[in-house]
Parts: sequence; C-alpha cells; structure tokens
Amino acid sequence: MNILVVEDEVKLTKLIKRVLEEERYQVDIANDGDRGLEMALVGSYDLIVLDLMLPGISGLEICRSLRQEQSVVPVLMLTARDAVNDRVAGLDAGADDYLVKPFAFEELLARVRALLRRRIQPENLASQTLKYEDLELDLVRHEVMRAGQRVELTAKEFALLEYLMRNAGQVLTRDQIINHVWEYDFDASSNVVDIYIHYLRSKIDEKASRKLIRTVRGVGYSLRVK
Ligand code: CA
Repeated sequence: MNILVVEDEVKLTKLIKRVLEEERYQVDIANDGDRGLEMALVGSYDLIVLDLMLPGISGLEICRSLRQEQSVVPVLMLTARDAVNDRVAGLDAGADDYLVKPFAFEELLARVRALLRRRIQPENLASQTLKYEDLELDLVRHEVMRAGQRVELTAKEFALLEYLMRNAGQVLTRDQIINHVWEYDFDASSNVVDIYIHYLRSKIDEKASRKLIRTVRGVGYSLRVK
C-alpha cells in the first residue's frame, strides 16, 4: 500500500512517515502544495494524507483538483483544532475523512486502516469489475470467476482476458491482441496468441457448457456475443 503524505511541518511529516512505515506502508512525502499536487496526480497512491494549510496550493485545492481529474484515491485531511469550517470545507472538497491536530498516531493509523478497507468494499469495486455473462474479472484484486468459481490465471492470461472482455463481441485479430497484450514485437507468424487462447479456454471454458471464447476463422478471436 502506497501512501502520500503532504504536510509542511517537517518534524510532524517525519513522525507520520515513521509511524506508517512501521506498519509496512510505503510512504512518499511532499512538503508543499505544488509538489503534493504533482505527486498525487502522477503517482499511484492508495491513500493521501493531506494537510489543509500548506505553502503554495492549499490542501483544499489539491483535493478539488484530484476529484476534478476523476481520482478516487481516499484523502485523509489534517485540520487545525476546532476549525469546524475547515472540516466542512475539506469534506466538501472531496476529502473522505479528517483528523484534527494534534492527533494521536494510533488514531491516524485507525483512520488510515478504515479508509483503505472502505476502498476495497464491494460497492466501490463495482466499476472496477468487468462482467460478461457469468464471467467476472476483478481489476483490483486480479481475480477471475466463472460461474462463481475462482479461476487461477497467469499475468498474461489475465491481460488477454481483460482485453477480450473490454472488447466483448468484437472480433480481435491476432495482431491487435499481440500489440495490446505483449508489449514487444512478436514475429507475425508466431502462434503465441493461439497458445494463450488455448490456455485461457482450458481454464475458463473447458468445464462450462457455454463456451465464451469464439474463434473467427482466418481473423482472430472474440468474447462471444451470440
Ligand atoms: Ca500546515
């Protein structure tokens, strides 16, 4: 789990980093708003601990910008004591929770755990699961289910299935599949796609009466629509 801490009080930042690292989180730090926003937009974080009052861009503005960019990363806002308006403004700006300074580190850890847990609740995962008939592919947990049964796939098989599911019903040529799933160029005569389709079939289709992967002779493959 990667956490970004945006806070300008250097001593406090170091303490937060240490406490989080003791719990095995990976922690990056930004000590001003501009750097914080840049890192938040570019990096892939599971959570952001964001101080409200920062030099440069404020915590509120960072939060608003993230939400404008469709980021769903959980944000834990740090606010000054008794500043009720700040808390309301923080939540309005899209923060998920807030913590009033000074806080106990146990409390910080509890909020962090709660936010990370909430992030992987099923209702939040709906948009991150691809479904086709009784086939489900969970992009976050990297799990595949067919008719409610877990199917173990390798990374390449998973990537291939994800590509087929995102383009369900469309016929994908071998070249399209190679270009998308394998990052480097394969010999055009290579039968790597056919081999992997074979693996995938043996895992998701073999035991099912309805076969979902369709061969379109001379062209390629599709995830069935008919
Ligand atoms: Ca501050």
